[in-house]
Amino acid sequence: MIEQTLSIIKPDAVERKLDKEIKSFFKKNNIKILKSKKIKISKEEASEFYKVHQSKPFYDKLCSYLSSGPIIAMILEGENVVSKNRQLMGATDPTKAEEGTLRKMYGISIDKNSVHGSDSVENGKIEINFFFK
Ligand code: UDP
Ligand code: MG
Repeated sequence: MIEQTLSIIKPDAVERKLDKEIKSFFKKNNIKILKSKKIKISKEEASEFYKVHQSKPFYDKLCSYLSSGPIIAMILEGENVVSKNRQLMGATDPTKAEEGTLRKMYGISIDKNSVHGSDSVENGKIEINFFFK
C-alpha cells in the first residue's frame, strides 16, 4: 500500500544542520518527500500537535521543546511508509535505538531525539493536515 506520513526534523537536528542528511536518508530508502517546509511553531501549536500526550509527565517539556526553534515538517510517501519510517527512525530513546536508525545516528537524548514520525495512517492524515492545510 502506498501511504503518506508526517515526518518532522526536530529543533536539535535543524540546529545541527542535519536536514540534508536526513532527507537523503529517506530518499535512499525509496521514500518520496512530497512537501517540506521549515517553520517555527508556538507553544500553543505544539500543545495541540502533541495533545495525545497531555496526561504524560513529559508533556509540558515536550511542547516547550518542539516550539524552541525551527523545525522541518515533511510529507513522506511510499510503500508502507508509516511503519517503514518508524523503523528508519528507531526507538524513542536513542540509547535503545538500533544501529543504522536516525535516532541512533543523530539523537542526543529521549527528548532531543531528532525526528518525529506518525504512528498510524490515520494519525498521519491528521498530522499532515495540521502542518499542510
Ligand atoms: N518523550 C520524552 N520522554 C518520554 C517519552 C517521550 O521526552 O519519556 C518525547 C520524545 O521526544 C518523543 C515524544 O515525547 O519523541 C513523543 O512520545 P512518543 O511516545 O509518541 O514517541 P515517538 O512516537 O516520538 O517515538
Ligand atoms: Mg508518537
